[in-house]
Amino acid sequence: MNAIKNLIRGNKLFRKYQFDEFKDDLSELNATGQKPEILFITCCDSRITIDFMVGSKPGDLFILRNIGNFVPPFSLNGDFHGTASAIEYAVSILNVSHIIVCGHSYCGACKSLYEDIPDTQHYINIKKWLQLGQEAKNLTLENKHLYQTLSDLYKATEKNSVICQVKNLLTYPAIKEKIELNNITIHGWYYNLDDGSIEYYDKNENSFKQISEYLNYY
Ligand SMILES: [Zn+2]
Repeated sequence: MNAIKNLIRGNKLFRKYQFDEFKDDLSELNATGQKPEILFITCCDSRITIDFMVGSKPGDLFILRNIGNFVPPFSLNGDFHGTASAIEYAVSILNVSHIIVCGHSYCGACKSLYEDIPDTQHYINIKKWLQLGQEAKNLTLENKHLYQTLSDLYKATEKNSVICQVKNLLTYPAIKEKIELNNITIHGWYYNLDDGSIEYYDKNENSFKQISEYLNYY
């Protein structure tokens, strides 16, 4: 119960000390509708606290979280697609100009790609969902000799997964079209839980670099 009490206390403090800071901006957005410029896709992991990480405030980010920050390839199979529908909403209705796929260190989803998951109904959807990390795992294992420890192997998998998920974004017709028109930019990020630093994927050099080096973006 303490966990819930902490949230209630937190909300009280938020209203008392912080809400005023956003009040005017929010009432404007409430009148006209949200206009985030960025779709931020990351993992459900409780250690990822986006607003703290990047100093964002209400209205800045349209946030999509799922296990492993995976992006299913575009599909027309008519199933219920929570992730795909959030992507379509951000791209086709909100007209975001950036999409960030942000992976992270110590990701349980990426680690579990190397573990056996029982075939029971308790895990059936997780097991299916984790197929979206398989390509990253395969890519990582192709260069297994480069990684001395399991921790190195997992980190490489997490980063390769960001690259794979970015690639999957390009299967969405709306995104493909906007990229051709130069109306959207896709970013691959990696959040390090040891020190709070963020790396970005440099496509030209096929490597991850500290976000502080990412000045030529703007
Ligand atoms: Zn994770």
